[in-house]
Amino acid sequence: MPKKFYITTPIYYTNQAPHIGTAYTTVAADVLARYHRKLGEDVFFLTGTDEHGENIAQAAEKAGKSPQEFVDEIAKKFKVAWTKLNIQYDDFIRTTDEKHKKGVEKFLLKLKESGKIYQDDYKALYCSGCEDFIFKKDLVNGKCPHHKKEPELVSEKNFFFKLSDFLPQVKELIEKDKIIIEPKERKKEVLSLLKQDLGNLSISRQKVKWGIDLPFDKKQKTYVWVEALQNYITAIGYEDNTNKFKKLWPADLHLIAKDIVKFHAIFWPALLLATGLKLPKKIFVHGFFTVNGQKMSKTLGNVIDPIYLADKYGTDALRYFLLREISFGQDGDFSIKRFEERYNSDLANGLGNLVSRVLTLSEKIKPAKSSSQGELTEKIKSTQEKYQKAMEQIKLHEALESIWQLISACDEYIEKNKPWELAKTDENKFKQVLSELLITLKEITGLLEPFMPETSEKILKQIKQNKKTEAMFPRL
Ligand SMILES: [Zn+2]
Repeated sequence: MPKKFYITTPIYYTNQAPHIGTAYTTVAADVLARYHRKLGEDVFFLTGTDEHGENIAQAAEKAGKSPQEFVDEIAKKFKVAWTKLNIQYDDFIRTTDEKHKKGVEKFLLKLKESGKIYQDDYKALYCSGCEDFIFKKDLVNGKCPHHKKEPELVSEKNFFFKLSDFLPQVKELIEKDKIIIEPKERKKEVLSLLKQDLGNLSISRQKVKWGIDLPFDKKQKTYVWVEALQNYITAIGYEDNTNKFKKLWPADLHLIAKDIVKFHAIFWPALLLATGLKLPKKIFVHGFFTVNGQKMSKTLGNVIDPIYLADKYGTDALRYFLLREISFGQDGDFSIKRFEERYNSDLANGLGNLVSRVLTLSEKIKPAKSSSQGELTEKIKSTQEKYQKAMEQIKLHEALESIWQLISACDEYIEKNKPWELAKTDENKFKQVLSELLITLKEITGLLEPFMPETSEKILKQIKQNKKTEAMFPRL
C-alpha cells in the first residue's frame, strides 16, 4: 500500500476575501501535495473556511446580510480563487458544514467525558478582533497590538478545558520531536511560550450568537478557535470513525502562518490528548510578508488580490514568485517591482528563453535518441539531490533555486557548444548536443511540475511535438 500523506492549510476566516497571504499558504500546500503525489503517495490535501464567531456576525450585519449568506459568498470567493491558482485540493471544509458540526459535537462530548471540563465565571480582557482573551502584559498603550483597539472587560459564565493538566506532556512531545515543529526557531518559541502561565482554555462563549452550540449547554456557543481546529478531523470522517478517518489521521503536516502557532502547537495537541486521539506529526510555520515594506492591512489599503495578479501575470508566474522570492519559513516582502524583475529575469530570460532556444534548434534537425552520458548528466543528478532534500525540508525556495541553477547550466552549455554553428558544420555533434539539452529540459519540466503545473505541461507538449508552438513568458 502506498504511504499516505495528509496535508492541511489553516481554514481561512471568512470575514474577508482571499488575499495574497492566504494564497501564499495555499499555493505552498498545493506544491507539497503535488510533489508527494508524484512520489506515488496517497495524498489528501485539505483546505477550507472558518465561518463562525462574532467578527463574522458583525461583518455580515454591516453588509446587510445574514451570517449564512455572508459566509456562503466568501467561501465561494475562496473556491474561485483556488481554482484560478490551480490548487488541487481533495476537500474544502466549511465549519458550517453539517459533518463539521456533528464532529464538533462528538469531540466536545468526549472532552466532557474526560472530566477535563469545568464551569467558571470568567472575567478578562477580550479583543473582539482576535476573538480571544488578551493579557494585560500583551497590550501596547492599552490596545491590542494586532488590532490597535482597546479590549473590553468581559465577565460571563464559561466552560473551561483543563489545559494546564496537559502542558507538561505537550512540552515533552515537542522537545522530543514527537510533534515536529519547524523551522527550529518556531519550536523554540513554542517551548518558551510553554514556560509562561497559559491558564486554562475557555471553550465556550455566552455572548456569541453565531456559532456551534455547546452540546452540554445549548445556551453557550463553542469558542470559534476550539471548533475550528477540529476541521482537521471532521473533514475526514471523525464523526462516524470512518475508514477514511482511520487511514488519514493523524495529519502528516499542518502548514500554518506564525500568528496561529499557539493554537496549533499547544491547544490542539492538548485537546487531542484529552480525547485520546493521535497527534499531528509535523507543524510547519511560515512567515509573514509585508507589502512594499509595510504590513498588509485593510486600513492601509494595500491588500493584494491574488486573482488580479494571476490574471495580469499568469497563474504559474504568481505561484513561482511567491515561493521563490521569500525563504519559506521566514518573513519577507512582496512588491510588484520585485515580481516584475523576477518575471523578466527568471521566467522570460531564464526558463522561457531556454525553451525557445532549444525548440527552435530542434525544429531544424530531428535530434538523436537519448545519449546515455553527457556533460549535463552530473548536473542533473546533483540538481535532483538538492531538489529532493529541499522538498523534504520544505525549503521550497531552495528547490526552485536548484532548478534555476540547472537552467543556467543549460545556457552555459549552449554558449560553449554553439549548436547553431554545429548545425552547419557537424551534424552528429549537433544532434548529440541537442539531445542532451532536450533530456535536461524534460528533467526541468518534471522538477517544475509541482510549482508550475501548466508551464510544465506546455513545455513537455512542445518537446513531444518537437515544435515551438507558443511563446512563454513574454517580457513585460
Ligand atoms: Zn486583537
